[in-house]
Amino acid sequence: MALGGTISVPGGARGTRLTGAEITAAVPGLAELGVPVEVRDVQAVPSGDLTFAQVLDVVAIASRAVADGADGVVVTQGTDTLEETAFLIDLVWPHEAPFVLTGAMRQPAMAGADGPANVLAAVRVAAAGESRGAGPLVVLNDEVHAARWVRKTHSTNPAAFASPNTGPLGHVVEGRVRMLLAAPRHEPLSAAFDRERLEAARVALHVVTLDDDGARLEGLEATYQGLIVAGFGVGHVPAALAPRLGALAERMPVVLTSRTGSGSVLRHTYHAPGSEADLRRRGLIDGAFLDPYKARVLLRLLLAAGAGPQDIAEEFALRG
Ligand code: GLU
Repeated sequence: MALGGTISVPGGARGTRLTGAEITAAVPGLAELGVPVEVRDVQAVPSGDLTFAQVLDVVAIASRAVADGADGVVVTQGTDTLEETAFLIDLVWPHEAPFVLTGAMRQPAMAGADGPANVLAAVRVAAAGESRGAGPLVVLNDEVHAARWVRKTHSTNPAAFASPNTGPLGHVVEGRVRMLLAAPRHEPLSAAFDRERLEAARVALHVVTLDDDGARLEGLEATYQGLIVAGFGVGHVPAALAPRLGALAERMPVVLTSRTGSGSVLRHTYHAPGSEADLRRRGLIDGAFLDPYKARVLLRLLLAAGAGPQDIAEEFALRG
């Protein structure tokens, strides 16, 4: 399924994006793989324009394809939001069949365009028995990453995708899929979200910064149903911000994550005002290893599913 993104940007004067058929036709060796590929154009947008509802639609199309006998699914999309869409899919994908996301960091007409190699590797992974049951995977630069852990870590480098907490699960070597690790899987959430409820489930993300007085959080509860806090280091905020976050946590789920990019927030190592222990005492939920963006995906889905405070805390304890 083609959704758009850099892999579809033709460059030069051509205004329209490449179709899925054009993207796959330009992949050397794909036809010779012996893997029949059925191509669908689902969206043709920069990935920053994708919505949760559209991604859930992609999951529904993919589920039907699997029910109709597809061995696996490959999605091409822009790389900007791929770490979020992949995790959203990870949370709801109920099948053993591989669901592989890929894209490109360089446009097709650029020297060293990476799209064709990424599509070829993604199809190999989607068709490989080794990938079954591994959950949604992100394949770029001949690396196989778990959707749960992958991050976009560079704005332009073709090696932008990395899993800082775990490393890649596997590699594509000489065309062979070599899975080295298995990521733990959890029960999928139901993908049958009421779309109106999903629209209404707004989750804010606040990145805490030096000398942050939190003024931006004033009146947040009028518009948002949940908040992700990207705190310093192990989950700290300025002491002056702690009461404001505590007051919000009495009205909505507030999840504590780290802005550092890898590692977990702590639970009970520091006790000063604004520390992780203080914030937990004030009712903030422990985001554990979830980065702020992935935590936001999980919280929005839980709110859209009508989960209450207890369920939300339990889900973060399980999936964080
Ligand atoms: N980097 C953008 C993305 O993630 C590509 C922009 C575009 O496709 O126009 O989608």
